[in-house]
Amino acid sequence: MTRAYAINNHPERGFLIYRDMMRQMDIRPNPQSCSFVIKSCMRNCSLYGGLQIHGRVLRDGFCSDTRLMTTLMEFYSGGGKGEDACQVFDEMPERDTVAWNVLVSCYIRNGRTRDALEVFDKMRSGECGCEPDDVTCLMVLQACANLCAFEFGERVHRYVKDCGYDRALNICNSLVAMYSKCGQLDKAYQVFREIPNRDVVSWTSMISGFASNGRGREAIDVFREMNRMGISPDEQTFTALLSGCSHSGLLDEGKLIFDHMQREFGMVPNIHHYGCVVDLMGRVGLVEDAYDLIISMKCKPDPTIWRTLLGACKVHGNLELGERVIEHLIELKAQEAGDYILLLNMYTSAGNWEKVIETRKLMKEKGIQTTPSASTIELKGQIHEFKVDDTSHSRINEVYEMLDEIEKQLKIGGYEAEITDSRLSYHSEKLAMAFGVLETPPGTKLRVAKDLRICNDCHNFAKALSQVYNREVIIRDRTRFHHFRGGQCSCNDFW
Ligand code: ZN
Ligand code: ZN
Repeated sequence: MTRAYAINNHPERGFLIYRDMMRQMDIRPNPQSCSFVIKSCMRNCSLYGGLQIHGRVLRDGFCSDTRLMTTLMEFYSGGGKGEDACQVFDEMPERDTVAWNVLVSCYIRNGRTRDALEVFDKMRSGECGCEPDDVTCLMVLQACANLCAFEFGERVHRYVKDCGYDRALNICNSLVAMYSKCGQLDKAYQVFREIPNRDVVSWTSMISGFASNGRGREAIDVFREMNRMGISPDEQTFTALLSGCSHSGLLDEGKLIFDHMQREFGMVPNIHHYGCVVDLMGRVGLVEDAYDLIISMKCKPDPTIWRTLLGACKVHGNLELGERVIEHLIELKAQEAGDYILLLNMYTSAGNWEKVIETRKLMKEKGIQTTPSASTIELKGQIHEFKVDDTSHSRINEVYEMLDEIEKQLKIGGYEAEITDSRLSYHSEKLAMAFGVLETPPGTKLRVAKDLRICNDCHNFAKALSQVYNREVIIRDRTRFHHFRGGQCSCNDFW
């Protein structure tokens, strides 16, 4: 009965019936009943209930039951208690693949992506007594995609092939997504081509890959082929397509597709579709039209869409509209440090120092703090992480020296560090790039992933670096890919 309640719509009753069993009927629970009641606590988001059961489990000595302990891990991990989940794991006398998988998913959920990859290596080395299975591979591929960890991803790919997991469609789709997100489109396309029974997810992953790498026309070509094959697109397919148009500045195509999805496919555009179109219009300078589009939307504008427009206002120097957009963000109570920094940059460029001081004061009053962002770079299959003005990396002094050296070299090439946010700081992506230059032979491609949007200065820095040092640099920021080559970026300086 506990189980039935746990998996149906009344998880809270699962807990009650379990309690009655003990109190009224005086029946002692066994590991299975504990496991079911934890599941009901999980579904009911009852941390307190789960803690009680955990106490019971300890008292009754069920800690050697691997399945029960794994359920407890899931419970803690799902409730945002990653540390507790890890502790349960550490205390388990025996662990199977499922337990290891829950640990991996717990790491990923709690932002410890690098640790998740380490677990994969450990499992492969035989240290854990069990091998990674298809579930592990799926999660790890996702982690590689997030970290832009191409070499690691390739290693997972080889493993997947050896085990025959690449016969599963979801694994293949993840591979396409992983390679795309690492900026390796040729590899992504190769995997995509070899999938025998491509579904809408496969097609969408490929379209999205071309789209985010600034190859909008190819994204459209893949979409056409998908149509010919009789595969129906879904909402995500159109989001990918429209974002491809915006990343490549294809205004006419984008408008046509936006129209097409409504008329031919009877779809009601969602906020993401609108967001892409706003981005596209902003990119080509139609910021006022983009504003009108947002106002006319059938769905409620979210902070992201306003932020997209704010970015465009900055690029086109439209201060007046930028201020209006900030008002909307304030109204939504969603203003972030990044928004104010964009506004600050606009005031600085316009030489409006009064407003600069005023905005700074406002930020202070509202207690808005800039959150430190992080960048990662993969070298020889190892992930290194840097934060703004980082001092934690073991070789940080060498990195700063290298960065100084690079800036000197780039100065000769015409690059001048820009003083943004009141001081010259070392953004994480600069540190990651400097580390890359330090650690790899000349000409090696650098691949950096960053959690926030790249700033103007770092963008200029990367452009100059790609030219002066003759290296390709790929930076994936929060929204798109920047592929720097010979002093140019694939985004054509719009992001
Ligand atoms: Zn920066
Ligand atoms: Zn760029």
